[in-house]
Parts: sequence; C-alpha cells; structure tokens
Amino acid sequence: MNCPACNNALKALAVAGVKVLACADSCGGLWFKWNEIKKLKDRNPAAGEALLHVERAEGVHVFRDIQHPCPKCIQTLLYRHCFNRRFRYEIDQCAKCGGFWVDVGALAGLEAQSPSESSRQTAAAYFKTLFEENIKPENLTHPDTQESARVIVQLFRFLTPKPLFPKKTPLDPL
Ligand SMILES: [Zn+2]
Ligand SMILES: [Zn+2]
Repeated sequence: MNCPACNNALKALAVAGVKVLACADSCGGLWFKWNEIKKLKDRNPAAGEALLHVERAEGVHVFRDIQHPCPKCIQTLLYRHCFNRRFRYEIDQCAKCGGFWVDVGALAGLEAQSPSESSRQTAAAYFKTLFEENIKPENLTHPDTQESARVIVQLFRFLTPKPLFPKKTPLDPL
C-alpha cells in the first residue's frame, strides 16, 4: 500500500502488539487499520512512542489541500477529522474501512526524554489546539463524534511521550 499523503510505499511495523503501516523515509505518516485501532484502549500510555521516531525525509511534498484516498480501499476518500497548519498535524479516517491516517507533525520533533521547557510549551500549545479546538467538548454530544474523539485521544495517548501528554483530555469527567 502507498502513502495517501505522499505516495511513498508504506512499511509494516509492529509496536506493543499494534500493527501499523508507516511512511518511513518520507512524510512519516502512520496508517492504523480499524482492527489495530480497537487495541489502543488496552495499551499503556506512550507504548507506541517509537512510532514518532520513524525516519522522515526533508522536503517531502505532502498534499494537504486535497482529500487523500484510503490506502486500503483506494476508491474511497478519507474524511479529515483534524488538520492544523501551525503544528502540521492531520488526522483522517476512512468511512468505509474505519482505518485512521495520522500525521503527528510537530510532535515528532520534540524531545521525549527530559524535554526542555520549550518542548513542553510547544506540546502544551499543540494539545490545547488539538483537544480544545479540534475536539471540542461541545462537539462530543453526538455519538459518532464522541467515538472519533475517543479514538483520537487514544491514538495520541499511545504515541506521545508521557512528559509531553496533557494531564487532562476532553474525555475525562469534568
Ligand atoms: Zn507519506
Ligand atoms: Zn478504507
């Protein structure tokens, strides 16, 4: 299968028992099949951190302004849940097979072990935008939206180094 964002051939990886197709040596995006997404709720926080360190190439052209085709279904275009230009993250989903395309953008460049103050601040601003603007609590009343938001939080909890993950998420009780 090829990357929906830059068309590079995706590489199969498994981290903490979760199988992922990664766009290694190119844009660094990650494809999670729906069956793999279902495993995330049982994984420890940061268990998938290694996936942030997939090798990326400089200057890869990522097609941001068009909808990406599903790498599995080919004919189906992915639905874009979130995209942010400042932090370069993008989260898309296939309405047909349920798979998720995740490009974590700026999160991949932050130090994971004893992060500097500036990395912590960037992570805080990143998650404030993702959780408070993209996954707004007032959007969580619809069951489908709630389900997507739950998956997005689980994905980021799986991928993000613990010191950089926010203490509160939109799914926590008030
Ligand atoms: Zn790619
Ligand atoms: Zn699909």
